[in-house]
Amino acid sequence: MTEAATGKMPLHWKMAIGFAAGTIAGLACNLWFANADWLQALITYVADPVGQLFLRLLFMLVIPLVFSALVLGVVEIGNPKSLGRIGLKTLAWILVVTTVAVLIGLVAANLLQPGVGLPEDQRALLMAQATEQGGAIAEKGRNAPSGIELLLNIVPKNPVAAAAGGDLIAVMFFALMFGIGATVVRSHGTHHFVEVCEGVYDICLRLIDWVIRLAPYAVAALLFSITARLGFDVMVQLARFVGTVLLALGIHFFVVFPLLLWTVGRMSPLKFWRAAEPAILTSFSTSSSSATLPTSLMVAEERLGVPRQVGRFVCTLGATANMNGTALFEGITVLFLAQFYGVDLALGQQVMVLVLCVMGGIGAAGVPGGSLPVIAMILATFGIPPEGIGLILGVDRLLDMCRTTVNVTGDLVGSVVVGRGEPQHTGDDVDDLAPV
Ligand code: ASP
Repeated sequence: MTEAATGKMPLHWKMAIGFAAGTIAGLACNLWFANADWLQALITYVADPVGQLFLRLLFMLVIPLVFSALVLGVVEIGNPKSLGRIGLKTLAWILVVTTVAVLIGLVAANLLQPGVGLPEDQRALLMAQATEQGGAIAEKGRNAPSGIELLLNIVPKNPVAAAAGGDLIAVMFFALMFGIGATVVRSHGTHHFVEVCEGVYDICLRLIDWVIRLAPYAVAALLFSITARLGFDVMVQLARFVGTVLLALGIHFFVVFPLLLWTVGRMSPLKFWRAAEPAILTSFSTSSSSATLPTSLMVAEERLGVPRQVGRFVCTLGATANMNGTALFEGITVLFLAQFYGVDLALGQQVMVLVLCVMGGIGAAGVPGGSLPVIAMILATFGIPPEGIGLILGVDRLLDMCRTTVNVTGDLVGSVVVGRGEPQHTGDDVDDLAPV
């Protein structure tokens, strides 16, 4: 039953209220009781632990989620029946267009520097607190490898140690290899293994759903704790972050997609947007690529005239693996928080951010807030305090609506481009091309 049908307040409103309540209370306390002992106690013993609990719940889900999603993604592409021209074209589309999206995000964050500008004393205060709470994480950032070592570290010596150490990129590499293996070896055992991955993935989605319900309280706690410590400056910083994300998403949506439609898809963008409207509206209002899948399938087939087998393949796979908006958002968020906390990311590290975000776009679940666990993990990888995610959460619903719209539109543009020149299939043969 929907929230409206049960008469409950929708989650995004609760989040907005949590955001407003935490911020106003925090700013008021900062203004009037900045040095009071009780305020410090409230932050240390109530607000911080509540925020930490939420973050831990998100972290808990990262490894099983990323592993199962990537194995399933590869198996879906690699199914011998569907791999081939359409599979390869789709894979190329996902990798190229997602990389372009992340690049736009990284360039925007580097040019506009939304996280820079916090007075030095306040930043030092934030860093000190974050180091206290996550000494190991900060240590990891200081010892971050560089150059060739960074590349070598993509391949884990020990996948269990990589998972235990939160080394996300190594875990992703292992999952990709495992997915390829599961595709090549078509035995009884691998079939069961893929089914288990499906089970793990489904369970993770349900758990994320439960955890996200705690978000309004976590948002209030995290925002209270940050604004009570830092006051008004943080709010200005946040507005700059939102502006940067919306600008970069806008460039991808209004410039990159039309260009691709014109040049590669040979379709008028206006015609495309008119036809895609139901999917655009559904994705904007649900913030979920998965929930929008039935609508995008209908749009691709009936309104855009994409060959059925292509529409099914690209949209189904795209709902979990092709997330342009999410990858772009991940890139900006990582740079924003790095700037905010004064963590310097050199060019080599930014290239790693790019790779992680492209993979993160493939690994994130197509549900509201599905990218948050991935972002938390990427932050930790670079020694950026993951507590910073509390800042993002408060404005996440609006940004989630916009990035999901870009995600779903990307699937539809992809289906037009991949479908160009493919024959229209009718009848049962088209089912052969659907992912397993
Ligand atoms: N809500 C997004 C989607 O479903 C995922 C995310 O970025 O959180 O596409």
